[in-house]
Parts: sequence; structure tokens; C-alpha cells
Amino acid sequence: MSIVNVKEIVENKKNKLKREILDLRDKGIIPKLAVILANDNDASRIYVSRKRKLCSELGVEETEYIFDEKVTTEDMLKAIDKLNKNSEVDGILVQLPLFKHLDETKILDSILPEKDVDGFSAINVGRLYQGKKEVVPCTPKGVLTILKELEPNLKGKNAVVVGRSQIVGKPMAALLLNEDMTVTICHSGTTNLPEHTRQADVLVVATGIPHLIKEDMVKEGAIVIDVGMTRVKDKLVGDVDTENVDKKAKFVTPVPGGVGLTTVYSLVENVVELAKRKNK
Ligand code: NAP
Repeated sequence: MSIVNVKEIVENKKNKLKREILDLRDKGIIPKLAVILANDNDASRIYVSRKRKLCSELGVEETEYIFDEKVTTEDMLKAIDKLNKNSEVDGILVQLPLFKHLDETKILDSILPEKDVDGFSAINVGRLYQGKKEVVPCTPKGVLTILKELEPNLKGKNAVVVGRSQIVGKPMAALLLNEDMTVTICHSGTTNLPEHTRQADVLVVATGIPHLIKEDMVKEGAIVIDVGMTRVKDKLVGDVDTENVDKKAKFVTPVPGGVGLTTVYSLVENVVELAKRKNK
């Protein structure tokens, strides 16, 4: 059985983070997160409610700003400008996706880099590629947390990332490169995907295609991280055919109950990190 107990990994880490937050609060520092929601996407509301729950459990203050579809890019920029200037706010998160008429890049880039808790602004993306771990996007950061629990020595190993989105695949590849891994990025234009995935000591899959990765696409003894999460007939399904891949991989993360847990945890970690930096 190679299914990773991600819940246990997160629970163990949570205790340490909770103590850190208590220490900060004792010094009068209350980490504060502002969440902006501008879409009518049910999944986004679920993600925001999970973030709210963990913030409250660990002692981080969280405020939500919800906009309806009449909102303009200008309105969003004004709201972010206010939060940028509010010295009590440590982290600003714009929940993606946004309503289609909004200018996502302009909005994300308007967040001050030192408050950009998701690390999606151009400056923080650039810093990640420079090898600086200032604010690392939450999903890839959470994947690395899992990997480090499973394999303390990543250096020199082959990593294959399937998917090249701005929020998962690209920052994931940069993070693994910063760990001195040899990284291959695959995408929809990749010819002969199995040829690449079979080289992976660490395989991270983020495509949104249910069960794209089959047993014969995985190297014996590989670590497989399934980021994918697609709703199929009321069930959440990952990108990996876990039931069969499990027979071959050393470790495989489950869906649900896998990367989703570390994503939310990494967000709280980032808010705390930004609060500490501000108060240095
Ligand atoms: P996305 O923006 O749609 O990107 C999907 C990527 O997969 C693209 O780069 C695409 O290639 C690539 N792709 C599509 N078909 C492929 C194929 N047949 N072979 C190889 N690559 C292929 O998705 P995303 O935002 O990265 O999310 C991916 C999945 O992760 C979704 O299921 C999402 O729900 C999940 N997710 C989970 C979490 C979490 O916390 N658990 C967080 C974020 C996302 P092209 O670039 O060539 O189009």
C-alpha cells in the first residue's frame, strides 16, 4: 500500500505552525489575510470556506471581500490599493478564476509583492525563477512539503511535471529545479507522454484530465503526486489511476484528501511568513 497519508503530514505540521502563531500573537502580532472573491464559481466558494476554517483554527484573521458580476477591473484595483495601504493586512489573496471580463494579470500584478500571499504577481514569479523562495505559490509549495516528507534527498533525481499552468505546473517545475532535480515539463503538445513519465523518480501531475496517468506510464518505485481534481458524477477524481498506479509506485497521493490539504495549509504558512517579515 503506497497511498500517502497527507492528512497526517498536515496535522503534524499544523501543531508547529499553531505554536508559531501563538508566539506572534503574544507579541501583539496578529497575522491577517484578505481574500477577494469575484466569480460565481461554486468550487471557489468551497476553497474559500476551507481557507477560512483553517485560518480560524490556527489563529489567523481572515476577511472576505465579495464582488458580484457588475464589478470592473478598476473597482478591483481600487479595492486592492486600499488593502495594499492597510498596514494591518499581511496577505492579499485573489481567488481564481475571476469573472471573465476582468483583467486577471493587471489585478494580480497590482498586489504589493510583500503582500502577494499566492505568489502570482510578475515580481514574485520572477523571484522564484531567480531561485529566491520569497512567496511560493501554495499548491506547488504544498507538493514540495509532501515530497520532503517522503524523500529527504531530491537532489539529482528526475522530476517530470505534467501540466504547465501559471498556478501549478510552471512554479512547480521552478521549485523542483531549485531543489537541484533534473526537471522535464510536459503539456498537451508533448508527443509520447509515457516515454517522459516513465523516466520520473518524482512525477507531479496537474492537468485536470481524470486518470490520465496509468500504471504502465510510471517507473517502478516512483513518487507520484496527483494534483488533479475533477468532479465526475458527484465524485472528485484525480489525474492518476491510483488504484493501479499504487501497485507500481513507491508513493502516490490520494484524491480527495491529498494535495488539496497541503495547498490550504501552505496558504496559512505564507500569511504567517509575510506577517513575520513585515514585523522584522
Ligand atoms: P490548467 O490551467 O487547465 O492546465 C492544465 C495543464 O495540463 C496545461 O498546461 C495543459 O497543457 C496540460 N495538459 C492538458 N492535457 C494534457 C495531456 N493530454 N497531456 C499532457 N498535458 C496536458 O489547470 P491547472 O489550473 O493547472 O489545474 C490542473 C488540475 O489541478 C485541475 O484538476 C485542478 O482542479 C487541479 N488543482 C488542484 C489544486 C489543489 O490544491 N489540489 C490546486 C490547483 C489546481 P497546455 O498548456 O498545452 O494546454
